[in-house]
Amino acid sequence: MPELPEVETIRTYLIPHIKGQGIKQVDVRLARMLENVSITKFKRELKDQVIKRLLRRGKYLIFEMPQQTFVIHLGMTGQVIFVPSDFQGIKPFKRTVTGWQQATGPYLVDKHTHVIFHLGNNGRMLFRDVRTFGKIFLTGNQWQRHPRLAKLGPEPLEITIETFLQKTNRWQSARPVKSLLLDQTFLAGIGNIYADEALFKAKIHPETPAHNVSHKKAKELLKAIRFVLKKGIRNFGTSFSDYRKPDGSKGNNLESLLVYGRGGKECRECKMILQKITVAQRGTVFCPRCQEGR
Ligand SMILES: [Zn+2]
Repeated sequence: MPELPEVETIRTYLIPHIKGQGIKQVDVRLARMLENVSITKFKRELKDQVIKRLLRRGKYLIFEMPQQTFVIHLGMTGQVIFVPSDFQGIKPFKRTVTGWQQATGPYLVDKHTHVIFHLGNNGRMLFRDVRTFGKIFLTGNQWQRHPRLAKLGPEPLEITIETFLQKTNRWQSARPVKSLLLDQTFLAGIGNIYADEALFKAKIHPETPAHNVSHKKAKELLKAIRFVLKKGIRNFGTSFSDYRKPDGSKGNNLESLLVYGRGGKECRECKMILQKITVAQRGTVFCPRCQEGR
């Protein structure tokens, strides 16, 4: 699932291509990708509007226009691809042994391409989503007040250490610390990849009850969260499965992951075999030696 670094990478890539561009037309090929808005209304609200700003809040991409704002959430497998005007033709499908049609190139328009935004520069922005858990919705001008966005916790790269410690001081909860990290109302933008990476970096067992995380450990945890998120952004995101940059290429962060996706392999620090368990219904990888003790 795309998390903060992946969504931020998409945002940074898109800005020079879409900022200041008018929306000439929108094709919606799958109505249920739109949340609480009909295709007719969505097309009408976007037509001839200019994209003024592209922002990110948690895992949401926010497209501000003068009269309206639309928001994209990528769900599990969503992709935003930008096709420049000088692109010639569409690359053909490739069929794999499992029968899935895989994206063979950056500019694939296939049965998983659900929404196409035609822009003033004759570029196209494609929303592609295999599992279709992604969503696009309108918020009006006050996107901060939309229910999905209003309930989000602070941005982990912006929260001060003091505010973070105040939040963790109130951790009376026996909930595993990993489950709190995944809770978007606690901090916005962290998912399974960067939660596992941050807990490893801070040497905290993922099942540690939140009230057992000391002040000192909480400080280390915030530092670790920032470290792994910034590294993810520098590496243009983690392409573990479907995530792609808007030019269709993969991010570079996968090779640098220390625990996520490495269950059964050796810990890069102590050579112990990394364990895979389930925490908060999510596969969780940790090192029993580096992250011992709850
Ligand atoms: Zn280890």
